[in-house]
Amino acid sequence: MSARAERVEAALAEAGVDLLLVTNLTNVRYLTGFTGSNGMAVVGRGMRRFITDFRYVTQAEREVPDFERERAPQDFLTALNDGWPDGALRLGFDDEHVSVKQRARLGEIVPDRVELVAAGGVVEGQRARKDPGELDRIRSAAELADAALQAVLERGVVGRTEADVALDLEFEMRRGGAEALAFPPIVAAGEHGALPHAEPRAVPIARDTLLTVDWGAQLDGYCSDCTRTFATGELPEDLAALYATVLEAQEAALAAVRPGPAGREVDAVARDIIDAAGHGDHFGHGLGHGVGLEVHERPRLSKTGDAPLERGNVVTVEPGIYVPGRSGARIEDLVAVTADGHDVFSTLPKTLTVVD
Ligand code: ZN
Ligand code: ZN
Repeated sequence: MSARAERVEAALAEAGVDLLLVTNLTNVRYLTGFTGSNGMAVVGRGMRRFITDFRYVTQAEREVPDFERERAPQDFLTALNDGWPDGALRLGFDDEHVSVKQRARLGEIVPDRVELVAAGGVVEGQRARKDPGELDRIRSAAELADAALQAVLERGVVGRTEADVALDLEFEMRRGGAEALAFPPIVAAGEHGALPHAEPRAVPIARDTLLTVDWGAQLDGYCSDCTRTFATGELPEDLAALYATVLEAQEAALAAVRPGPAGREVDAVARDIIDAAGHGDHFGHGLGHGVGLEVHERPRLSKTGDAPLERGNVVTVEPGIYVPGRSGARIEDLVAVTADGHDVFSTLPKTLTVVD
């Protein structure tokens, strides 16, 4: 964890601050190792300050060895009234997560010589570049999730309700060791597959159509995210063609994942293929997103993704086509950007697979 705090400290000059107050719990976990529900950190100028309340003192001794630990009242912002280095200071706070009310309260608590400066995104920027330990965890989460879906498919899905299959999948992931779901699974067949974020219904999965499953596990704090679309028998020609287009777009975009191109450039590779097939209006979301401690984080692979991909990014590549009233397909791989290309963590095949 100390290397992470050093990298964040090194990024503070660019953010125009001397110190950074880290209050978002995911950022606190990333920076300090703390997994409890009430803790914050201050980093910069060599300071490594961690504050929690009495409930977490013992846990913090174990989880946060690299920081000076302080016990404060449960309303622990009050601890920030002292403990600062001498002189005038610019203290960055996370304006992406701190409410206007909390910001006002902070201003009342910290000494006048401490100026509060909006500095959101500093830790998130570091989180986008995973270290080898994080890559291992994300890969393990992906493998666990893939094994869970395989177990569910072996029991058969046609004729069962979407909701039943989704619940079965949740159960398999938890039994396989997932501490939580990365998000509630999507199981959507037939015309329901035309909704990118379909909620599983109490409706049996029909034969001879497309079935989309989007699922992810959380393991050791890290998320996975994958989508596969299956055929539940023999597909009508239009749906087979739709799947083939999504697969072509997915494989082309995946091949473009390496250090250098901006997220929007990789997005365009898939979008051009889907546009050319006449489905431009049927791909209404971005190509992908970063995955780590959160299932949606930096960088973005979308029309507005300006950041160039870097080694250590973990992103999804997930084009889809959704034809209202008909059906839809999405194929999503979880991919790490390596020094000269990429490494795919998703293990299930993408050639159209028939399930029953
Ligand atoms: Zn997904
Ligand atoms: Zn995703």
